[in-house]
Amino acid sequence: MKHFDAIIIGTGQAGPSLAARFASAGKTVAIIERHKFGGTCVNTGCIPTKTLVASAYAVHVARRGVEYGFATGDVRVDIKRVKARKDAASAKSSTGVEEWLRGTTNCTVIQGQARFQSSNAVEVNDEVLQADKIYINVGGRARIPDMRGIHDIPFLTNSSMMDIDFLPERFIIVGGSYVGLEFAQIYRRLGSEVTIVETGPRLIGREDEDVSQAVREILEAEGIHIRLNAKCISLAKRDGGVAVGLTCEEGAPEVVGTHVLLAVGRVPNTSDLGLDRAGVATDSRGYIIVDDQLQTSVPGIWALGDCNGHGAFTHTSYNDYEIVAANLFNADHRRISDRIQAYALYIDPPLGRCGMTDAEIRKSGRRALVAKYPMSKVSRASEKGETQGFIKICVDAETKQILGAAILGVGGDEVIHVLLDVMYAKAPYTVIQRAMHIHPTVAEYLPTILSELEPFA
Ligand SMILES: Cc1cc2nc3c(=O)[nH]c(=O)nc-3n(C[C@H](O)[C@H](O)[C@H](O)COP(=O)(O)OP(=O)(O)OC[C@H]3O[C@@H](n4cnc5c(N)ncnc54)[C@H](O)[C@@H]3O)c2cc1C
Repeated sequence: MKHFDAIIIGTGQAGPSLAARFASAGKTVAIIERHKFGGTCVNTGCIPTKTLVASAYAVHVARRGVEYGFATGDVRVDIKRVKARKDAASAKSSTGVEEWLRGTTNCTVIQGQARFQSSNAVEVNDEVLQADKIYINVGGRARIPDMRGIHDIPFLTNSSMMDIDFLPERFIIVGGSYVGLEFAQIYRRLGSEVTIVETGPRLIGREDEDVSQAVREILEAEGIHIRLNAKCISLAKRDGGVAVGLTCEEGAPEVVGTHVLLAVGRVPNTSDLGLDRAGVATDSRGYIIVDDQLQTSVPGIWALGDCNGHGAFTHTSYNDYEIVAANLFNADHRRISDRIQAYALYIDPPLGRCGMTDAEIRKSGRRALVAKYPMSKVSRASEKGETQGFIKICVDAETKQILGAAILGVGGDEVIHVLLDVMYAKAPYTVIQRAMHIHPTVAEYLPTILSELEPFA
């Protein structure tokens, strides 16, 4: 039985950095990966989708050439080349992670499926490894819901989407949330006819209604069809393609397409890990239960990233690594409860979000102020010809601290950090009004917007 100071399962967004940290501290570490190095973000998530977003954006701008004063003629998409560009970006990153780990002294890289044998032993490729500390970074995968007809039709997920080198002619996307909306706009811009089918009464139901509505308008303006309130979705083969029923009643309305993508949430990769043999507790959905410093129910075993249910983003997984490393190596007692919610939706224009939504603020019972400003009044947006969306900022009426913000508009994914950093500093919003900002930028409007704060309606 081989013994290591630490074993890490999974090479997602937390595992590799943690392995390098152990190794540089002179500790022996084994890191186990069963599939592609770099995990979801690198291979089937952020990197490939944002590479596709960039291709789709370039096509979109080219089609609007006349508005900017140039002519391109017919804009034709070569989907094989779009895919090749995406594949190259993912491969570069995945190879980079693998080479980094393999080149790290004290780090043993093992390819295979890891399973706990006990609370301090992991089995991989018929070999048993032992360690005092074990870190689980196994991530998640697309949820395949138990819909009527699901076993009768071929369907796509975010993973199998990575392999397609053709344009789905009539593309149905089940799920109107973050993953579904990004794919919807990408493929619409690349040339597919796209329909989004969503069970809820609005898109991205976790966002405020005004955000959902504006996103809907942006997508519909590009010709994306949106079917909401699809109370019970069923699937069936039809005309060499697929029919998606919007209710489960006989003769009910349906949408017919050539391909269907299921984008209806994620599940953690925890069912085949042998967690029961280690005594590690999970919740009813399979997420590993962790404390504020990411330790599981078993001392000596930690869970980082999507598999612990405390985030579903690359930055939350990486932040988990930082918290674990700070506690372990720096006696800096960082906790997950210290972090402020932040993320982006990468449609174009992007939505940058931080902190609480209006609904959460109302529920908290605080006295709050809000300011909302259309992007059409932001000169940088006008200059770029990208004036869709708005900026909304909420602050606490007593402390003057920022409670939350949504920036749906050009540069929204970057500008949101101005607000986020002030939130981490626990500084009043007025500091933003004393700073000199660069012209012309979207961020230079933040002081003006903050001068228009009014009580919540
Ligand atoms: C389409 C899509 C787009 C996204 N876009 C963004 C974005 O723009 N920004 C953002 O922040 N987030 C985005 N995300 C989310 C982001 O990809 C994930 O939150 C992030 O990758 C989670 O990382 P992780 O460290 O938890 O694990 P993962 O990256 O999922 O890695 C887990 C690794 O563990 C391995 N593994 C699993 N089980 C075992 C086992 N038993 N033995 C050995 N190895 C195992 C897996 O093969 C995998 O490599 C997106 C996700 C999707 C699906």
